[in-house]
Amino acid sequence: MFGAVQISTGDILRKAVADQTPLGQQAAGFIHSGALVPDSVIVNLVAERLKEPDCGKGFMLDGFPRTIPQAESLDEILKQAGLTLNCVLSVQVSQEIIVERLAGRRTCRQCGGLSHVAFNPPNVAGVCDRCGGELYQRDDDKEQTIAHRLQVYETQTAPLAQYYRERGLLRTIDGVGEIEQIRARVIEALGDLVR
Ligand code: AMP
Repeated sequence: MFGAVQISTGDILRKAVADQTPLGQQAAGFIHSGALVPDSVIVNLVAERLKEPDCGKGFMLDGFPRTIPQAESLDEILKQAGLTLNCVLSVQVSQEIIVERLAGRRTCRQCGGLSHVAFNPPNVAGVCDRCGGELYQRDDDKEQTIAHRLQVYETQTAPLAQYYRERGLLRTIDGVGEIEQIRARVIEALGDLVR
């Protein structure tokens, strides 16, 4: 988006699990139960990813940092690379809507593209519109795991809002509405960063 690379730690971990790499074997149990993968594992992964040349044109971190120690490590990684964070975007959605969105979410095994059984259904059930790959429900999008993920979010991730507010980086948008409306709010919130 906006010429920046999207770096999703969840996507990287799911690929590692599917490819049965050592990282995937280490992370699988945590992901399956909705717990966080240990900070040291994630921080190394992000530090390595940010060294790739495609990050030179800008990047958007998706799903990272998720704990205060991860945020502190990110500060250190960026400082050493001579980079700074421009903005942290917080998308506000009620727990009820989060559960509805996650439980109906379907992910493409091939390209990682997303759809939703009710809000954004594919043209052909079970088939990704973008690449024709198979759509599946992530284990951690099952309802009992969602509840655990929300708890983990409240205790470990929510404090990051204050961390970034204090640093003047936090921008907040309302995440309830149609995809296009929310996209417009994101662009508005990012302001001059994307113009
Ligand atoms: P996501 O696709 O961002 O919802 O991430 C899926 C799962 O991957 C999470 O529930 C965690 O188990 C793991 N994960 C992704 N990003 C992180 C992170 N920054 N720190 C710890 N675990 C993570």
